[in-house]
Amino acid sequence: MSCLVFPAEPEWHEGQWRRKLSQVRRGGEGGGGLGRRECCLGTPGFLCLRSENLLVFALGITVLGVCHYTLTVKGSHLATHGALTESKRWSKIWMLFFVEVCTSFTAEYAKYGHVKMHHAYTNVLGLGDSSTWRLPCLNRYVYMFLAPLLIPVLTPLVAVERLREVELKTALRTLGLISLGLYSHYWVLLNVSGFQSPGSALACMLITRSLLAHPYLHVNIFQHIGLPMFSRDKKPRRIHMMSLGVLNLPRLPVLDWAFGHSLISCHVEHHLFPRLSDNMCLKVKPVVSQFLHEKQLPYNEDSYLARFRLFLHRYEEFLVQTPPITELVGLQ
Ligand SMILES: [Zn+2]
Repeated sequence: MSCLVFPAEPEWHEGQWRRKLSQVRRGGEGGGGLGRRECCLGTPGFLCLRSENLLVFALGITVLGVCHYTLTVKGSHLATHGALTESKRWSKIWMLFFVEVCTSFTAEYAKYGHVKMHHAYTNVLGLGDSSTWRLPCLNRYVYMFLAPLLIPVLTPLVAVERLREVELKTALRTLGLISLGLYSHYWVLLNVSGFQSPGSALACMLITRSLLAHPYLHVNIFQHIGLPMFSRDKKPRRIHMMSLGVLNLPRLPVLDWAFGHSLISCHVEHHLFPRLSDNMCLKVKPVVSQFLHEKQLPYNEDSYLARFRLFLHRYEEFLVQTPPITELVGLQ
């Protein structure tokens, strides 16, 4: 166990910065905008795959891969938080579209695992400690370089396994929507992109769906694992939990586009204000970092490359062994 000692600040209230942020209005792109933009880019992407020219074909794969990750990571993430629209009915529709049709996962479990556990209990051992990302049986190189390629195959299999825990009606809906998403992708590759055989269409699906699988896995572990972890019975206050247990990466153009600011350069802000749209997270970033610095609380930032090197170097400690618990002194 390790201890972190902070200067005591009895006068300090969380409400102080809520007042600062109240000037920043809520708003941003809705699910419709996100879906329409990817469809506009996706159509030429599918048409590029008809080309005999290798460069045009590779361009098609790249465009489709980035669009796929925008729908499945950025779209699904914001949809599970209900951050795409104010309407409850549309929130549910977007969540089913992005999570089940596009990502081949179950909407209920995505919301439970991400919003109810990971966000509510960030870095609390046994609850929101990102342990679903640990695969201690794999060595560091297999985990960091090869395991991501299995994500597109494992995602629907894990979803089907989770269906045992839901009502029959929900399970049938999820199975129907996942099949619709996978079959329509396959159908478009055969009928629009002109693939001649089922095998080549399936191989293309696998390649586009694993195009950004590496950064997807890496970002999920880089932003929480290796930072302080807390015990269930001494869970810190929310502001301390997020300040200590979340890390921001710098802005990275492709990842900003496909995963969204809330998962890359504004992850701390996203954990503090999970229902803010992606664009709004970017707007509140200077206020949040200034506030945490003023209060002498950590505002964790590191580069992708530095985290990558750190995880390769300390893989056993971070992803195999049980992480040590950190206790906060002077803050509670
Ligand atoms: Zn989130």
